[in-house]
Amino acid sequence: AGWSLSCRRNVSSSPSRLQSCMPGWVIDQYGTNGVLTYTEDIPVPTVNSPSDVMIKVYAASLNPLDIAMRGGYGATLLKLKRHPMSVLGSDYGSEFPLILGRDVSGVVVDCGSEVTHVAPGDEVWAAVPPWKQGSLAEFVTLTEYEVSHKPKSVSHAEAASIPYVANTALSALVNAGGLCRDSSSNKRVLITGGSGGVGTFSIQLLKAWGAHVTVTCSPNAEGLVRGLGADEVVDYTAEDASEQLAMMEKFDVVLDNVGGETEQLALGLLKPWSGAKYVTLVTPLLLNTDSMGLLDGMCQAGSSLQSKAIQNIISGGVFYRWGFYAPDGPALDDVSRLVDAGKILPIVEAQFPFTQVPQAFQKLEQGHARGKTVVRVT
Ligand code: NDP
Repeated sequence: AGWSLSCRRNVSSSPSRLQSCMPGWVIDQYGTNGVLTYTEDIPVPTVNSPSDVMIKVYAASLNPLDIAMRGGYGATLLKLKRHPMSVLGSDYGSEFPLILGRDVSGVVVDCGSEVTHVAPGDEVWAAVPPWKQGSLAEFVTLTEYEVSHKPKSVSHAEAASIPYVANTALSALVNAGGLCRDSSSNKRVLITGGSGGVGTFSIQLLKAWGAHVTVTCSPNAEGLVRGLGADEVVDYTAEDASEQLAMMEKFDVVLDNVGGETEQLALGLLKPWSGAKYVTLVTPLLLNTDSMGLLDGMCQAGSSLQSKAIQNIISGGVFYRWGFYAPDGPALDDVSRLVDAGKILPIVEAQFPFTQVPQAFQKLEQGHARGKTVVRVT
């Protein structure tokens, strides 16, 4: 909604009344990297509601979700979230041109009348919900609840590496995993895929909360995850990786960033009959709704979740749960304090200028992330 074909562009560092268009990267159809298009004709997302906060983007970062969304992943469910009336038919607006990019670090340029927590000129960070226009553009507009003050001790590029993985990890570990700052000191947590974006953040968060953290990763990531505080590290490519894990004391919580075959292995590593929780970020919900349609896909996902939950509680007394990103500015306020206290470091593996967004996508698509890929927008 609100996309206009003709735009007047006034080049300035903040939006003036004359500036109605902004530069950014959009996709007009789903596909491979070739669908990413740079344009200067994106209408500026102005403040439309009393709780809106308009941010000038200084840096963004990429997540595996950006690659997936570029190819159409989640289109069915995200369309419903963007246009709830689309459930009645297909004439309720298109998602294109779609702006990807889920993290932002930048400066507030305008606020709705009811915004109290931030003001124009404030340096902020946020994770942009996948159903909203993303951060690979000059401006992004979010609601106040999604926005938080950026940590002062790090640059915008460093800050942009954190919000989406932080909101995801916190939602998974706290809401699904039942952990929190005050209850983690006697907990043993296993993080699979510890070398990626969510993993490198989660290790640091859990160590700041006092948990004992075991990580699986490739051998060349051992130094990285140990440097972030991992107590024990298992090379998942080793022939005896499963045996090594099975010989360890059992875990209270598993955060699974890998899924697939890892799921069954990890479920067997939890303490039986003591409230232990397996939380996976790799869920079939969006894939199911894409391939089967909204209703059948959600039913299929729901019944698969339910049957696994029942099976695992009956057979081993462990909770089986799915973890999801959830927008949460106040949670980012806590993370901001941990960053400024030096307890969480931004792990930026690669940085790209705004002109090289397709190259940044290529880098991410190669896999084997060691932290995050950041795009400097301003
Ligand atoms: P990344 O791509 O940043 O990291 C994945 C990491 O896993 C890489 O470092 C990779 O390195 C490592 N890895 C791959 N295979 C294995 C394996 N078998 N065992 C251990 N490590 C492995 O992804 P993110 O951290 O950003 O996200 C993790 C997962 O969570 C992704 O699947 C993502 O889509 C999902 N996710 C889901 C969300 C939700 O709302 N449900 C939200 C955010 C993320 P290497 O290959 O070199 O070993």
